[in-house]
Amino acid sequence: MKAMVLNKLCNLNDNHSPIKLQDITEPVPNDNELLIKITRCGVCHTELDEIEGRTPPAFFPVVLGHQVIGRVKETGKNISRFKIDDRVGIGWKYSSCGKCEYCISGNDNLCPDFKATGRDKNGGYEELMTVDENSAFMIPEVFSDSEAAPLLCAGAIGYRSLKLSNLKEGQNLGLTGFGASAHLVLKLVKYKFPDVKIFVFARSETEREFAKQLGAVWSGDTLTKSPEKLNCIIDTTPVWTTVVEALYNLKPGGRLVINAIRKEEIDKNYLANIDYTKHIWMEKEIKSVANVSSSDIEEFLNIAGKIQIKPEYQEYALEDANTAIIELKQRKIRGAKVLVVE
Ligand SMILES: [Zn+2]
Ligand SMILES: [Zn+2]
Repeated sequence: MKAMVLNKLCNLNDNHSPIKLQDITEPVPNDNELLIKITRCGVCHTELDEIEGRTPPAFFPVVLGHQVIGRVKETGKNISRFKIDDRVGIGWKYSSCGKCEYCISGNDNLCPDFKATGRDKNGGYEELMTVDENSAFMIPEVFSDSEAAPLLCAGAIGYRSLKLSNLKEGQNLGLTGFGASAHLVLKLVKYKFPDVKIFVFARSETEREFAKQLGAVWSGDTLTKSPEKLNCIIDTTPVWTTVVEALYNLKPGGRLVINAIRKEEIDKNYLANIDYTKHIWMEKEIKSVANVSSSDIEEFLNIAGKIQIKPEYQEYALEDANTAIIELKQRKIRGAKVLVVE
């Protein structure tokens, strides 16, 4: 079967075609697994972190991709939740141990044995994949396959970030970076908290315009001071400059939530600009977001289906996955990027 395969780590500034189209052996489901015929797979910024080695794959060659939509083609002997032809989605969580204190308390995203789709197991940049039935989710009918794919990571992790931000109705929310995840958070907030004012910080003029079209009250460059202080800020960028600037823009008692699996090293020296009085004092907090739990995906799909949060997206053929990846690297972003597998 067809797959876009990563054979080794590389630097995306020098190598613009890190993954290659290859013919690989079809996977076979075990008794507890589903075989999925993939139709779409979203492209996530985390793929850049995998390719460049900040969160390296567990083995090579590996198939990336963790926003997978497809139909059940085969079911293992013990499968009870799904039947042939059901439309399902698979997100970043491939499996967790199910026994540790985190798994038992519903924080399976923090499990020490967390295995990620498309990093620790083959993901969705291919025609068929196998997955444990507990990591597959039914997709609400209101979504097309391309609309549904970005909900599985960009949407679900945005939802988790929003929960961790503690945002309340009537407060001010900042979004730093305005890619796939942030634009879905904006849509979710507009629905859940209509009186929240949303301020968007983004480097590109296109992203700033896009944010205003979707209902942000203000948008400006990442280095600009916001016109009002903010109760919480969600940072989806891969850099450090935004962390320092966000801390400055927070109100007393405000919280910065960093929704990024890794930060890059390029501008780390900017952290030296942190001034305790301006950036940290007054009980400001920083919290990171790690992975997503199964319940995040389930809850978010449910809400997104009810209120019809549909992502803005661009489609690419599976064979053109490198184009989508390089555009993400160069921050040519408007909404989400989705590979058409079939
Ligand atoms: Zn992702
Ligand atoms: Zn566990």
